[in-house]
Amino acid sequence: MKLLNEILTYNEQFVAEKKYEEFVTTKFPNKRMVILTCMDTRLLELLPKALNVGNGDVKLVKNAGALIMHPFGSIMRSILIAIYELQAEEVFIIGHHDCGMSGIKAENVMGKMRERGIKKEMLETLAYSGINIADWLHGFNNVSESVAHSVDIVKKHPLLPADIPVHGLVIDPETGKLDLVVNGYKD
Ligand SMILES: [Zn+2]
Repeated sequence: MKLLNEILTYNEQFVAEKKYEEFVTTKFPNKRMVILTCMDTRLLELLPKALNVGNGDVKLVKNAGALIMHPFGSIMRSILIAIYELQAEEVFIIGHHDCGMSGIKAENVMGKMRERGIKKEMLETLAYSGINIADWLHGFNNVSESVAHSVDIVKKHPLLPADIPVHGLVIDPETGKLDLVVNGYKD
């Protein structure tokens, strides 16, 4: 069965059997926090379990690498909305070891784009339009440095209230062990 059909079939049963009842909560986080972390599959259940947070406890923002690419991009917007509209009072940026965005080679990704039918001319056109795809695809070399950098972007954001602690951590995607990179209470 195709994935979509499989999901829709399961979903009908899920709703019919009222399996949602145990998840009923509100949009406001019980633990008054917003987490930015990576979309890595290993963190899907491990990260909430390792932090002892469940449905309703936190606002969770995810992308590839837990990276903030732009101070006025959608990640920063989500963090600010979590604070101003959804009662989050602390920010946690959680990168992880063995991340797919660590040491990513933009040339390799661009090679794969070519193999999947993206024309060389298209990449050239983008380059001539001032879009540096290699820079855009670039991840990071050191996860702790990357997390510290993201903490810095959030902490120094002109629209962030001064009393919001911004913490930086790195999680082990096998054991769930957290290493503290930035303690947001100490500044
Ligand atoms: Zn990752």
